[in-house]
Amino acid sequence: MIAFRPDDCLILVADDLAQNLQVLGSLLDSAGYATTFATSGTQAIERAKTARPDLILLDLMMPGIDGLQTCAALKQEPQTCKIPIIFITASHDKDRVLDAFELGAVDYVTKPFESKELLARVKTHLELKRAKDELERALAEVERLAITDPLTGLFNRRYLYAIGEQEFERTCRYGAPFCVLMLDLDRFKTINDTYGHAVGDEVLRSTARCLRQTLRQSDVVGRFGGEEFLAILPSTPLAQAVTVAQRLRKAITRYSFSSCDRVTASFGVATYRPGDRSFESTVKRADDALYQAKREGRDRVCTCGDCAAILSFPPPIIAVENS
Ligand SMILES: [Mg+2]
Repeated sequence: MIAFRPDDCLILVADDLAQNLQVLGSLLDSAGYATTFATSGTQAIERAKTARPDLILLDLMMPGIDGLQTCAALKQEPQTCKIPIIFITASHDKDRVLDAFELGAVDYVTKPFESKELLARVKTHLELKRAKDELERALAEVERLAITDPLTGLFNRRYLYAIGEQEFERTCRYGAPFCVLMLDLDRFKTINDTYGHAVGDEVLRSTARCLRQTLRQSDVVGRFGGEEFLAILPSTPLAQAVTVAQRLRKAITRYSFSSCDRVTASFGVATYRPGDRSFESTVKRADDALYQAKREGRDRVCTCGDCAAILSFPPPIIAVENS
């Protein structure tokens, strides 16, 4: 954890009395903090949104929108809801301090305040906020790693199934079927045997890059395992999914893999069918179509089923019976 430095922290002070602002401002200034000010609740909300302070010192009693209403508004806005708020209260406001905590304030100081105490509370809450942010970042990273294939940076199989089941549910409920596109690099074992595993890994990473660049924003693509990749295409008719697969097939063929010769891939495309029991049913058909593509000579797209309209897409697409 990096050492605490007051000059890295911006504090917003909101108070309707200029004199209070001056006292608090010079105190925070002397401790090394950067400061910004507001003289009303409305101004404090605006200032918090634009300046993104690390902490807010908020006067409880202000004309117009008071401190409590300001706090409530700040906690409702996604940009400002995580900024710690310390209330500045008069001793007779004690009853309302509980309301302040209820609204999400982290602390309060009573006027007339003890300088050292105020600075100690400010520092404590800034440090707490930072620790919390770091924890959130670490947690987000753990979550990211849990759904990511480490070699390619694409989603992993577990995440593909999670998204796939969601798509399955969505299609069952609202229609507009999804498609599954499965691809397998042709003769990948030969690449590994000829050039070594480091080159094999580079081919997988390049394929991942090519997939990301070629697929649409709404498509979800991941590494299914080994040299096999799977993409989920939400709300996409089969013919369109085949077009996407053909585009990918060509992109991979043309992609300049820095460390080895031409790479090709075989594709299996399948769509959701009414009566499917789970996402897995569609995956199974895409897998069958993929193996058909392999059997028919590789570097091609196959579908599993009877979509006559797509048979005209070059190169030959072999429709196979559902096995
Ligand atoms: Mg006041």
